[in-house]
Amino acid sequence: MLTSAHCSQEYFESVPILQVALPSPLRRLFDYRSPVGVRAEDCGIGQRVRVPFGNRQMVGVIAGLSDTSELPAAKLKRALELIDLQPLLPESLWQLCTWTASYYQHGLGDTLSSALPVLLRQGEPALARQDRLWKLTTGTYPEHPAIARAPKQKEAVQILARHPHGLSHALIGQWGLTRDCLEALERKGLAERISQSHHHVDEPLPLLREAPLTANSEQSEALAEIVAKQGFATWLLEGVTGSGKTEVYLQAIEHALRQHKQALVLIPEIGLTPQTLERFRKRFSVPVVILHSGLNDRERLDAWIAARDGEAGVIIGTRSAIFTPLARPGLIIVDEEHDLSYKQQEGLRYNARDLAVYRGHLEQTGVLLGSATPSLESLHNVQRGRYQRLRLTQRAGNASPPRFECLDIRSRPLDGGLSRPLTGLIGEHLRAGNQVLVFINRRGFAPTLMCHDCGWIAECKRCDARMTVHQAPAHLHCHHCGSQRAVDRHCPKCNGEDLRPLGAGTERTEEQLVQSFPDVPVMRIDRDSMSRKQAMADMLRRIHSGGRCILVGTQMLAKGHHFPDVTLVAILDADGGLFSADFRGPERMAQQITQVAGRAGRADKPGQVLIQTHMAEHPLLIDLTEHGYPAIAERELAARQSANLPPYSFIALLRAEANAAALANQFLEEACSWAEQLCTDNTLQGIELLGPVPSPMERRAGRFRAQLLIQAGQRSVLHQLLHIWLPQLEVHPLARKVRWSLDVDPLDM
Ligand code: ADP
Ligand code: ZN
Ligand code: ZN
Repeated sequence: MLTSAHCSQEYFESVPILQVALPSPLRRLFDYRSPVGVRAEDCGIGQRVRVPFGNRQMVGVIAGLSDTSELPAAKLKRALELIDLQPLLPESLWQLCTWTASYYQHGLGDTLSSALPVLLRQGEPALARQDRLWKLTTGTYPEHPAIARAPKQKEAVQILARHPHGLSHALIGQWGLTRDCLEALERKGLAERISQSHHHVDEPLPLLREAPLTANSEQSEALAEIVAKQGFATWLLEGVTGSGKTEVYLQAIEHALRQHKQALVLIPEIGLTPQTLERFRKRFSVPVVILHSGLNDRERLDAWIAARDGEAGVIIGTRSAIFTPLARPGLIIVDEEHDLSYKQQEGLRYNARDLAVYRGHLEQTGVLLGSATPSLESLHNVQRGRYQRLRLTQRAGNASPPRFECLDIRSRPLDGGLSRPLTGLIGEHLRAGNQVLVFINRRGFAPTLMCHDCGWIAECKRCDARMTVHQAPAHLHCHHCGSQRAVDRHCPKCNGEDLRPLGAGTERTEEQLVQSFPDVPVMRIDRDSMSRKQAMADMLRRIHSGGRCILVGTQMLAKGHHFPDVTLVAILDADGGLFSADFRGPERMAQQITQVAGRAGRADKPGQVLIQTHMAEHPLLIDLTEHGYPAIAERELAARQSANLPPYSFIALLRAEANAAALANQFLEEACSWAEQLCTDNTLQGIELLGPVPSPMERRAGRFRAQLLIQAGQRSVLHQLLHIWLPQLEVHPLARKVRWSLDVDPLDM
C-alpha cells in the first residue's frame, strides 16, 4: 500500500527511471517514471509497461533503468501500468533482439514488436490461460459405457489417457480434438479442466509415432556428426534434391528430443505445405506446434507460450518463427537455407537464416542449414571453416538423378510458350501414364499488351513497368504496385483495334496445354489460382493421388514438393537470369532451375528435364546442365571474389523514395557526403560509397526511388560507420520529406 507520504516528490526521485522501447521508427528509448503503486524493485529489463505517448497509449518494453533523465523531472510522465512481473523473454532471446536491432540499425522497440505475437504487443498477459489443461477424471477408461456409441469421444479419451498430466487446450487441435467433444466428456463427468499451477513436461513414451527410415550411409554419416557435437556448431547439409534431407532433420530432432530439448524448424514461406508438416506430425508423439498464417492471434500466442514454457517439443514456422522463445533450446534447422523468403524486405530487414546462426551461438545449440542449392554466403562460410559441410550426393531410395537437356528455341514457333518438340515430349510422357510439370515464372496470360499497328505498349501509370494481361477475369494488372484496369479496346495512341498480348504467362500456357491435350487434366498453380485457402492442399491431394496430368506453375511449384509421378520437368524460359542486372542473377537462376528440375524422377521412375532457351551456348547453362549446381557455385564464388562483391565484401543499401526524383536524390547526396566526412574524421578504411543512382525500377507506385550503396572490406568497419551515421541521418531535415530505409546485407538491389 502506498501512503500519501510515499507520493511525495522525494519518493519519485529515488526510484529509477524506466527507459522504454516503444514501437516507433526512432532509434531511441523513452523515459518514464514507474506506475503509481509499483515498487521500483518490481520493474526490470524485459518487462512490458503501458505508457502514455502523445494522446495515445502504447505498450513498450523496459530496456534500461537509470537514475537520471535528460528530461526535466516535471516533464517526465508516469507509466500507466506494469504488465509483466517477469521478463517477457528468456535472456538469450532478449539478447537476440537487442543484437538484431543493433546489427540491422533498427529501433529496439520496433524490433521487439516484430519479434512478438500481436496480442503481446497489445498488452495481453503472457501467461498460460487458466483453463488450459484437459485431463481425464479418475476412473475414466476408453471402454466406458457412457461413450460406447460416441467414437469421437472414445478417441478423445484414448488421447487424454496418454497425457496423464493433462493436455493443453491450446494443443488439442493437433490431436484432432475439438472443444465441443471435450466439453461433452466434461458434462458426462469423464474429463475435467484443470488450471496449470506447476508446469509439467509431458513425456509420452514412446517418443515416436512411427519408426524412422533406415538411414543410408550418407545420412548416417551426417547424423553421426550432428549427434556427436555438444553446444554450438553450424552445419551446412548440402543434399541434392530428393536425397533425404528431411529424414536427416527428423532424426536430428529425435536426438534433441531424447535429450529433453526442443527443436525449432524454419521453412520457406512456400514450403509450408500440408505434406511437409504431415511428415513432422506423423513422426513424433510430442506436441508439434506450427506457426502458420492461418492461426488467429490467440492461437499464435498460445503456440508461443507452449514453446516458451517447453510444452511444445518441435516448433515449425516461417521467417518470424526465429524469434520464438524456447525453454530448452536444442537444435535449430533452416530448411532451404538459400531461400529468399528468409529475408524480410520491409521494416526490420532481417535475415532469419543469419539470425538462426547467431541464436545458436547465444543458446549454444546446433544449427543445421539444409539445401540442394546452398547460398554462396553459406558455401563461403564452409570455405572459411565457420560451417561444417555435410553432404548427401545420392538420391534416397531407388530414385536416380534426372537427365538434363537444353532445347534451342531460336526461330522456332512457340504456342503459349511451348515449342513443338516440347509438346511432343510432353505427349510421350503422358502416354506412358506419367505426370508432367511445366515451369514458367510469370503469372497472368501475357506479360505485354501491344498495338500491332503502331507498337504502343500498355504501361502502368504509376510504375516504370508494363501491365500484365490477365484473362480470367480479363484485366490489366501491374505486378509491382497492384494497380488494375480494364483491357484497352482501342489503342490510345493510334486508335487501332488490333491489340495483341505478347509472350506467355501461366494462364496462356495452361490454355495451350488444354488445347493440345484435351483429355488430360491440366492444373495451374500460381498466386492467382491458389488464393483460396484450401486450394493448394486440394491440388496437392489430386496430384498425389496419381494418374497422368500436367502441372503448370510458377515457383510455387518449384520448392520442396515431392511429386513421385512427375517424370518430365519443362522450363519454358531460362533466359531471364542470364542477363540480369543484379550480381546475384546467375546464382538465383541456377538455384531455381536446379530446384524445379529436382521435382522430376523423385521415385522409382527416371526423370527428364528440358530447358527451352535462346542461349543454348551460354557457359552458365552448359555448366549447370553438365556439372550441376556445385560447378556454378564455384564459378560464381570466383567471380564475386575478383569483383570484390559479397560474400567477399560487406554491403548496406540506403534507399530513398519521394514524389520527386530530385528530393530522393538530394537526400542521398547529402547522406553520401556526410558518410565521406565521417570516414575521414574517424579514419574508417576501405569503405566505398557507390551512388546515389536510380533504383532498378525508378518509379514505382508513383514514387521515384534511388539508392546509395555502402561497401566495406570488413564488416566491423561497415558497422562502425552505420552506428555513427544513422543517428545523424535520422534527424536530417530532409529525412522527414522522403521515405528512406537502410538495408544491411541486402539481397535485392
Ligand atoms: P529432400 O528433402 O532432400 O529433397 P526428402 O527428404 O523429401 O528429400 O526425401 C525424398 C524421398 O526419399 C522421400 O520420399 C523419402 O521418404 C525418401 N527417403 C529419404 N530417406 C530415405 C531412406 N533412408 N530410405 C528410403 N527412402 C528414403
Ligand atoms: Zn496503336
Ligand atoms: Zn504499377
